[in-house]
Amino acid sequence: MRYLSTRGHADRKQFCEILLEGLAPDGGLYLPESYPQVAGATLARWRQVWQAQGYAALAFEIFSLYIDDIPTQDLRALCQKTYTQAVFGTPEIVPLKAIKTHAAQGTQVFLEALSNGPTLAFKDMAMQLLGNLFEYELARRHAQLNILGATSGDTGSAAEYAMRGKKGIRVFMTSPSGRMSPFQQAQMFSLLDENIHNIALQGVFDDCQDIVKAVSNDLTFKSQYKIGTVNSINWARLLAQVVYYFAGYFQATSNDQQQVSFSVPSGNFGNVCAGHVARMMGLPIAQLIVATNENDVLDEFFRTGVYRVRTTADTHETSSPSMDISKASNFERFVFDLLGRDAARTKFLFQDQLGTSGVFDLSQDPLFAQARQRYGFLSGKSTHANRLQTIQEVFASNHIMIDTHTADGLKVAVPLAQPGVPMLVLETALPIKFAATLVEALGREPERPPKFQGIEALPKRVQELPTTVQAVKDYIAAHCA
Ligand SMILES: *Cc1c(COP(=O)(O)O)cnc(C)c1O
Repeated sequence: MRYLSTRGHADRKQFCEILLEGLAPDGGLYLPESYPQVAGATLARWRQVWQAQGYAALAFEIFSLYIDDIPTQDLRALCQKTYTQAVFGTPEIVPLKAIKTHAAQGTQVFLEALSNGPTLAFKDMAMQLLGNLFEYELARRHAQLNILGATSGDTGSAAEYAMRGKKGIRVFMTSPSGRMSPFQQAQMFSLLDENIHNIALQGVFDDCQDIVKAVSNDLTFKSQYKIGTVNSINWARLLAQVVYYFAGYFQATSNDQQQVSFSVPSGNFGNVCAGHVARMMGLPIAQLIVATNENDVLDEFFRTGVYRVRTTADTHETSSPSMDISKASNFERFVFDLLGRDAARTKFLFQDQLGTSGVFDLSQDPLFAQARQRYGFLSGKSTHANRLQTIQEVFASNHIMIDTHTADGLKVAVPLAQPGVPMLVLETALPIKFAATLVEALGREPERPPKFQGIEALPKRVQELPTTVQAVKDYIAAHCA
């Protein structure tokens, strides 16, 4: 399998080449040249693999269609090492839980648990694999990598727990001082591994992001200190997420003629884009529902055909903060497919149109209707009040607590669900990560997994630095000696 850029660059690359790269050289995103087709015999075989051997074996089957520059035994071993009960808490890795809702009669609604990994958010599903892939590939190349990132919570902790103790890798993770939830701060700052560096900066998330961009744009510094990233545009992260769409499907159905739908709490469009890839491969997905919070850039597009990125000032701070985005960094991948893989037009929309006006409009283009008709996309938006109400309803009728992002997914899914088609709502975090809103909704603290008892009291390792590019560069240089 070779990979191409959504903006038409002539290069065709292999998996391990793009693994350590971010954007393609022309600013586009990498996608496989084609989607392997698995409907029919392959899907039937994969159902058996899932049933007999479980998640890691299924992951291997899927990855081996996309990765041909890692020897088979090594790829299999990487999957077995990554997706274990010890790391993800259950033998199924992504178990389904049926729940009672107000959905149309005859519609089963399930939560698919993606958040039982080390940091209790779905980003672990991909980041744990990325840690093992990076370590493997860097060792093969006798190379080193210094990962520089900015986080408002989930990404940074998922990256640190995936990279801690890994040979050849250091992590420098900036976060806005005092702005993450106490639980998230404790998760990150209690890591004492030598290769993990927490950097707290005064300001908000975007200030951290700006500093990270400025450091990475200094190409001399970047190559001297081997700076890399782990952001959600990385194709390997997306590929890792494809697996749980298949695993969810096999759990919710008993034969391959059945269809299911997925509802996906969405921000940067990484999670639901993996669902799009699964569907393009032939997984019988009826609907792919994009659920947003008040930051409804994506809902607006799927309703109207207009994609309008927001300014930082127009981006709301919400109680599902991991979906607080001003633009959706993976969205270009879907638009490329929607436009019939027209790279010149994709480039025009994302580089020229968005670059100058911050908007593009496909409402008059006949292709736009295909987003729903051919690709199965639907969308909806959820607000703080919706979130509280959904959390309350699920607790009242099921005696379980769901987190705020999952609540957005469920709220949007219920009215759109089709009778007879199972609806799988992706559970993207555990409620303990967003305890304040759970207390607001239910008047009680969410349950805390035993391994996180008392983490707020653990010793913390975090460096406060002035919010300047130079201070961050100096810190990195001093710790790469
Ligand atoms: C990152 C995140 C999301 C959004 O996922 P995208 O891939 O950015 O669309 C949703 N929920 C939680 C809990 C997250 O951490």
